[in-house]
Amino acid sequence: MFCYVITKHMKITKCYNKNDKQALNVLKKHNKGLTAYKLLNELQKIKNVKPMTVYRSLNSLQKMGIVHKSNHNKTYFICHSTGSEKHNPVLAVCKKCEKTEELNSNIFTKLFHNVKTKEKYNFSNFEIEISTVCQKCS
Ligand SMILES: [Zn+2]
Ligand SMILES: [Zn+2]
Repeated sequence: MFCYVITKHMKITKCYNKNDKQALNVLKKHNKGLTAYKLLNELQKIKNVKPMTVYRSLNSLQKMGIVHKSNHNKTYFICHSTGSEKHNPVLAVCKKCEKTEELNSNIFTKLFHNVKTKEKYNFSNFEIEISTVCQKCS
């Protein structure tokens, strides 16, 4: 079953399927995010899903900008931005408790306009993870 969706970014994206939708629903319940493995576990409580299916869903949800991934703790979570467009994710990750928060990326986008590099990088497209310590852990 396929359906067209209007994302929170008000763009009609590639259809997402039943599997993607179920993955999204589980992620919505976990504000702190889930690893692919934990998401698989949660989904398997509902029905029999294969790991490949979950990875594929996470991949396409990430491409749509609905889900971000932290490479630090390999966690996927729902985009918390209130912005109207797909954006470059900027994440603050606590080194101790792994709490993750999405930051407003605008300031970083502006910053990159002024960065001088030897190679020509396309800074209109980036991902940042800031390794830090949250208030509770400091
Ligand atoms: Zn976001
Ligand atoms: Zn912490």
